[in-house]
Amino acid sequence: MRIDIISIFPEYFAPLGVSLIGKARERGILDVHLHQLRDWAHDVHRTVDDTPYGGGPGMVMKPEPWGEAIDAVLAADQDARPRIIVPTPSGVPFTQRLAMEYAAEPWLLFTPARYEGIDSRVMAEYGSRLRVDEVSIGDYVLAGGEAAVLVMVEAVGRLLPGVLGNARSAVDDSFAPGEMENLLEGPVYTKPPEWRGHEVPEILLSGHHGKIARWRRDEALRRTARNRAELLAALDPATLDKHDRRLLAELGLLP
Ligand code: SAM
Repeated sequence: MRIDIISIFPEYFAPLGVSLIGKARERGILDVHLHQLRDWAHDVHRTVDDTPYGGGPGMVMKPEPWGEAIDAVLAADQDARPRIIVPTPSGVPFTQRLAMEYAAEPWLLFTPARYEGIDSRVMAEYGSRLRVDEVSIGDYVLAGGEAAVLVMVEAVGRLLPGVLGNARSAVDDSFAPGEMENLLEGPVYTKPPEWRGHEVPEILLSGHHGKIARWRRDEALRRTARNRAELLAALDPATLDKHDRRLLAELGLLP
């Protein structure tokens, strides 16, 4: 997968050289291109922002440097088109499902902003001919979109074939479409079997795969009920077996 990122802080992306994503790049699974937005600003101060029309506090990122920068990235490959991802708190929520959708794309272009965001005409211009997604990583406001891009690239990158040591890990993750859709993963343990008086649940030492799978699902349901009850409401009833229903009824979450 090719990833382009245009930012006024390309140095912010140093963490993409570390760990799983760094290794994926070394192995050619992920091809990351960083671009300095100011390279497309033509005044002596390399200005990329201006006062907002309509008044109000803060500055807005000018359309011209963004347009030139995006055009230059698009020109890198005449035969392909990237999916453009614009991080913004006013976008659609970034979810595991969206991460999987992005992981299936050959080319992503991220446009992290600063100030009050990018002049909206940039999204209108490219949205008329390319796929442009305005995406939020959560209900809070960051100082800039770079951290949001790091989050998304890590979530997408680990889903690319060959990046995770065991592809099965992603299937068992919280939120993974399938059995874990709208569920949080339960607690996990490793050796030793007892630590500071805390014992590993006996069932995990039993070697009984069926019972362990059942226990894990119960714990996932319990944890989801405790931390994110609103997710349970979104569970597809068709995916609940008799045991799930009994547990949810015990938790007071089923009539
Ligand atoms: N005035 C904007 C608003 O209220 O929607 C917030 C601008 S924020 C200070 C500057 C930039 O940080 C945004 O344009 C976006 O690129 C990024 N950003 C901030 N919070 C974000 C979030 N929750 N998800 C994704 N990007 C975010």
